[in-house]
Amino acid sequence: MIRAEESSLAHNYHPLPVVVSRAEGTWVWDVEGRRYLDMLAGYSALNFGHRHPALIEAAHRQLDQLTLTSRAFHNDRLAGFAEGVAELTGLSMVLPMNTGAEAVESGIKVARKWAYEVKGVAPDQATIVVAADNFHGRTTTIVGFSSDPVAREGFGPFAPGFRVVPYNDLAALEAAVDETTAAVLIEPIQGEAGVVIPDDGYLRGVRELTRRTGTLFIADEIQSGLGRTGTTLAVEHESVLPDVLLLGKALGGGIVPVSAVVADRAVLGVLGPGEHGSTFGGNPLAAAVGSAVVDLLRTGEFQRRATELGEVLQAGLATLTGKGVVGYRCRGLWAGVDVDPALGTGREVSERLMAEGILVKDTHGSTIRLAPPLTITREELEGALAALEKVLG
Ligand code: PLP
Repeated sequence: MIRAEESSLAHNYHPLPVVVSRAEGTWVWDVEGRRYLDMLAGYSALNFGHRHPALIEAAHRQLDQLTLTSRAFHNDRLAGFAEGVAELTGLSMVLPMNTGAEAVESGIKVARKWAYEVKGVAPDQATIVVAADNFHGRTTTIVGFSSDPVAREGFGPFAPGFRVVPYNDLAALEAAVDETTAAVLIEPIQGEAGVVIPDDGYLRGVRELTRRTGTLFIADEIQSGLGRTGTTLAVEHESVLPDVLLLGKALGGGIVPVSAVVADRAVLGVLGPGEHGSTFGGNPLAAAVGSAVVDLLRTGEFQRRATELGEVLQAGLATLTGKGVVGYRCRGLWAGVDVDPALGTGREVSERLMAEGILVKDTHGSTIRLAPPLTITREELEGALAALEKVLG
């Protein structure tokens, strides 16, 4: 099967050599019936685990009723979804899309239009300030402001209008923002960069700077949001509310691609009919599953689990520090773990963990990321940490 994939699929991924055919909760099974603990959770798309019963039920119910209308017509599920997301985030309007990259692209378009219509930036002069080592997706505009050569090289020419500053550096941000700046676009925690958590006060500083300069603060919470860090949004750790939130991944419950740009009317109100759209964005199946996701997050259970089990994860990684782990960054149930390079690359460690029945993914060099479903039990998490200790020992 792996060989068949190699000959018939583009080689834009290098998957671990496991062929998954079934999943339930925190566990997946390969085609030979071998069980693995999923410590990646679809890059946080599976925050509620595989096939969460409430999400599957919502999807089944909707499959039996209506799956797609396009936005040419109204559907009876979309308003409820938008109201739920608005209530969850504290911002009042939603622009539904499908993938994360689409939400980012849409956020960029909205910010530029806002800059011309509200801020008064001269036509076609709007700039957007982004952070080095960002990861916002794979479209040409987005990779154009990536600082990862592998993501960029061979894909130009790129769209102008972006300024890249070091992450976690308020002085650099301040120097880059001027009267042309539509928005500052950052990840509250940089996931793909290796779960890089900015200093306490950085997000508050971004909020203060953007407010003072009349610039939009766009937080890409596509990976950090929806329970992962112990709060609904990662920005809550610094008690800030951005002007624009980008959501994705877990919003679709691991069932359908669902993303959204969320903002108040003063921002999202700049879009008029015909100026933006998506055939599948806001479809009734996506809205039904997304509404069920919002219902799960309303209970607070997943945020609580991420906080409590995050402490177990953090304590486990602290114990492993000096025993194969040379550094780690952890918030909630999300960690970037730097393994001693002498013990192997992140890929090699991932392969060794796979042999122990634990699925993880490396990021760069000798860093692996741990992001289990938020439904993981303490025993399962301790089992994963024990396996990590074994493969590093
Ligand atoms: N933004 C962030 C912070 C991400 O982590 C990702 C994906 O990993 C994206 C955007 C892109 O999402 P998608 O792969 O759904 O396009």
